[in-house]
Amino acid sequence: MIVVHSAAHRAQEGRAELNDGQLVPCYEKPARAEIVLARVGAAGPGPVVEPDAHGEAPLARVHDPAYLAFLKAAWHEWVAEHGDRDALPLNWVAPGMHRRVVPDSIDGKLGYYSFDAGTPITAGTWRAATAGADCALTAAARVAAGERAAFALVRPPGHHAGHAFYGGYCFLNNAAIAAQALRDGGAARVAVLDVDYHHGNGTQEIFWHRDDVLFLSLHADPRQEFPYFSGHADEVGEGPGTGFTVNLPLPWGTDWTAYAAALATATARIAAFAPDVLVVSLGADTFVGDPISRFRLQSDDFRRMGAALAAAGLPTVFVLEGGYAVDDLGVNVVNVLTGFEGD
Ligand SMILES: [Zn+2]
Repeated sequence: MIVVHSAAHRAQEGRAELNDGQLVPCYEKPARAEIVLARVGAAGPGPVVEPDAHGEAPLARVHDPAYLAFLKAAWHEWVAEHGDRDALPLNWVAPGMHRRVVPDSIDGKLGYYSFDAGTPITAGTWRAATAGADCALTAAARVAAGERAAFALVRPPGHHAGHAFYGGYCFLNNAAIAAQALRDGGAARVAVLDVDYHHGNGTQEIFWHRDDVLFLSLHADPRQEFPYFSGHADEVGEGPGTGFTVNLPLPWGTDWTAYAAALATATARIAAFAPDVLVVSLGADTFVGDPISRFRLQSDDFRRMGAALAAAGLPTVFVLEGGYAVDDLGVNVVNVLTGFEGD
């Protein structure tokens, strides 16, 4: 399986995020990708290739151009105002307030375009995020050209980023960008399956009204878990997209037995949709040892997950999302890939 990776991910290295009432070192950090890359080298998938440059046009197929312009300029505007420290938003829109006018000040813009305080914009955010999107686009292009599967080994992750917002450590929605590029390249139907512990609210929002992209997500119940305000089972899409969003929330403590049953529900729905290609938002924060999550998957379960995904029989693009138990992340992520390949 081809692995697409760029060292430019290192450009995104936030100093702190707001978590549990404290500014703490960022969980989403360069070591995550490094350990997955090391495990790729040790365990078999490959070759590892550099991404091709795809420019901004495929990003604008998914994201609002005004949002992309904001993201590109945000660090410079922030530094001019506040100096060299991470850019974090401080407040957001509440009912009775409105979003008709984009604020001029960078502090206002950060609140306008974000939904949490866990996602610092740094000097290298744009560079790292666009390199990640290029990796996802390159992996999609390889699969469109006939590869059975490819893996975009990227960070920062993408699935919380929507048409015009960032959050949850995500800025550009790599999986959505790949899915849209596959559609634009001739695939009639694309399924996006999100197995990250957290609901892929950004991907859901991007494809909410669409019947050509089926979005499915297995995740912790939003009654208990971030991002709290999306991912309930009754969220099914709207208009032509009704029935083409599938949410399978699971409670804290979910182990492989319950997870596998939900995964079987998802893969049955994918089979009924009969897509040309599958995009997997591959987060491994469902692992029992994850420091910010509460599912109970074991390392061997990720191999079973890969085998279940392979059984769908589809050309598949894997895109790395979350997973914060850094020491185990390489094994868990690569177990999905080797499980997919039949070990
Ligand atoms: Zn996650």
